[in-house]
Amino acid sequence: MNDCIFCKIIKGSVSCDKVYEDKEILGFLDISPVNPGHTLVIPKKHYETMLDVPDDLLKKIVLVAKKVAKSLIVTKEGGVNVIVNNYASAGQLVPHLHFHIIPRHIGDGHVFSWKSHKYESDKQKEEYRKAIQKSLG
Ligand code: AMP
Ligand code: ZN
Repeated sequence: MNDCIFCKIIKGSVSCDKVYEDKEILGFLDISPVNPGHTLVIPKKHYETMLDVPDDLLKKIVLVAKKVAKSLIVTKEGGVNVIVNNYASAGQLVPHLHFHIIPRHIGDGHVFSWKSHKYESDKQKEEYRKAIQKSLG
């Protein structure tokens, strides 16, 4: 993908602050961190979302994300958000799969909020449950 910023980072035409690299995966600091240490873990091959990437590679990415998360939690109080935004409607700005690993601290002031909904009825809830279960096979 010629116009993909993360593909440019992988090619080396755009620089990054690398924290991890192997044959298939790159980890680097987010340019605009939620908290210091906020890291992105990406496949070197371009896939738009988590739904597109082959399972074997996804497993490897998740394991790297876990390693990065462990490396970021340096105190007992420190937590971590691991987030993947898939498609623009879910907040994805860069259409190349990336895991956000965001170190968190009590009182850091960040709130990942969403407006919660109630199901219109038990019937509607049951329709969703059945549809998901059916699609899972
Ligand atoms: P998302 O909204 O999930 O697509 O997040 C994209 C993330 O990529 C944002 O947190 C940006 O700060 C980050 N980002 C964009 N360009 C760069 C870059 N050149 N180097 C590092 N991080 C970047
Ligand atoms: Zn790309």
